[in-house]
Amino acid sequence: MACRICSGRLREFADFGRQPISDAFVEPGDPREEFFFRLAVGVCESCTMVQLLEEVPRERMFHEGYPYVSSGSSVMREHFHTLAKRLLTTELSGDDPFVVELGCNDGTMLEVVADAGVRHLGVEPSGGVADLAAAKGVRVTKDFFEAATAARVRAEDGPADVIYAANTLCHIPYMDSILSGVDTLLKVDGVFVFEDPYLADIVARSSFDQIYDEHFYFFCAGSVSRMAARHGFELVDVERLPVHGGEVRYTLARIGARTPAPAVAAMLAEEDAAGITRLSALDRFAATVEGNRDRLTALLKGLRAQGATIYGYGATAKSATVLNYCGIGPDLLTFVSDTTPAKQGRLTPGSHIPVLGPEAFRDPYPDYALLLAWNHAEEIMAKETGFRESGGRWILYVPDVHVV
Ligand SMILES: [Zn+2]
Repeated sequence: MACRICSGRLREFADFGRQPISDAFVEPGDPREEFFFRLAVGVCESCTMVQLLEEVPRERMFHEGYPYVSSGSSVMREHFHTLAKRLLTTELSGDDPFVVELGCNDGTMLEVVADAGVRHLGVEPSGGVADLAAAKGVRVTKDFFEAATAARVRAEDGPADVIYAANTLCHIPYMDSILSGVDTLLKVDGVFVFEDPYLADIVARSSFDQIYDEHFYFFCAGSVSRMAARHGFELVDVERLPVHGGEVRYTLARIGARTPAPAVAAMLAEEDAAGITRLSALDRFAATVEGNRDRLTALLKGLRAQGATIYGYGATAKSATVLNYCGIGPDLLTFVSDTTPAKQGRLTPGSHIPVLGPEAFRDPYPDYALLLAWNHAEEIMAKETGFRESGGRWILYVPDVHVV
């Protein structure tokens, strides 16, 4: 297989085996066969982009029933509101500015733009969450963003001051179409701002569960700047974000339109020094992950053998990789607790562990809880103080397997 960015040669460094669609929760008794694909990751020898080796058809992941909502976490709500206010004060120009968000989900960011009375459009292929955005007064079109969509929006609404995407761009394999669409839609001096999980954080934290069907690319400043240059763009700013286990917010502008911030050169130098896209570093990451997988399954089996009860906490998309890669099923986790109504009463994809609402977690508390939503650890632990007070302990597997 060739690199989806530059057609260069890909070198595989990690294989997580057969994996289901991470958000395809199974209705008990549903006779339809689940879809599986091989989840493996490689790095391009030419442009250094880290990417999946097998592409899952987009309609299998992003559709009417897509269950993830960005407003589900108060930390994320705050994060997007802060960003929206900043874009409104720093990036808009002219009498009638226009803001576009790719993959606007339930409109958590754009609702601030809408409330400010600024012209905007969310492009969102997952119908259910798009309806939630519309209900908040956000103008949204139910569509995948690509070159043709961009041309249509440009014809109807004119050019955009800002195009923004959070946890969306890394989902999209066909980057040529996306960036040529951004080129079509963006004002001459406009910016394309996007934030996604940061490869350096994934490697440093061994957070292998960031690797699942929806995350096709694993960006870093180096690979993003090379990708941008292919379409006449330049990386002009980077900002590290503490959310979702470590992300970077990248700002692209047309080459020469803006002076790159010093943070760009600093991040590029840091990445070079650490060699994060070198095969040796990525092979090391894969070996660490294998060790953590073996330690986690040994711990869970040992605790179960002693008669301990263990529940999962957070039926996140990323938990699909952990559960299926580690072979964790209902014999080890009685159930997984999750606040998303659409997931409750169903089974986790591939691993078939029942998903129950948060009330089941408290009635009674288990001896141990495997924290599958570790990227929200602080928020969750603050909410579940009763669990700790009851003597319960959390099991984490990022950056290594430990019990707290
Ligand atoms: Zn490449």
